[in-house]
Amino acid sequence: MSLLHRTSKLFIVFSLVILSSNAIAEHETVASTGQYDDSNPFARILVKTLKADIVFENKHAIAFHDIAPKAAVHVLVIPKGEYRSMVDFSTQASDDEIVALVRALGETAKKMGVSDSGFKLIANAGHDANQTVPHLHFHLLGGEKLECISVD
Ligand code: 5GP
Repeated sequence: MSLLHRTSKLFIVFSLVILSSNAIAEHETVASTGQYDDSNPFARILVKTLKADIVFENKHAIAFHDIAPKAAVHVLVIPKGEYRSMVDFSTQASDDEIVALVRALGETAKKMGVSDSGFKLIANAGHDANQTVPHLHFHLLGGEKLECISVD
């Protein structure tokens, strides 16, 4: 086998390893507690170094379309403050921030046209819930009949 052949084979294997490790990293879960990491994608959306399709905004919260929608309507509603999950938000956010986030959830549902047809709100916190972005976010899902989550 020529040197060129061997080098190109090595290059292909190396690229595949990099690609697959990126794919794993994309779905890595994060802890619900700990220091806030301001390099996470939602922190970058908030300082506008990363683009997002914003659908609603108030003083302390913002809503934008999920980059990989799992339903006809899939919007993420987040506080503007630096909170990893409901753990720190529920204990450290001001009353104004809490009210603003709850109002943003209702206003976003209205804006997306799902307040009458129905919608689901999900906030994953930590590893067991498969949280992947360490900034509190509510998934607002709707626009079609969604799967039932049984809790009995
Ligand atoms: P989690 O698994 O943490 O509950 O959900 C994170 C969500 O954020 C996923 O649905 C994922 O598609 C979405 N997401 C990850 N990165 C970005 C991004 O850069 N922009 C937007 N708009 N959504 C993102």
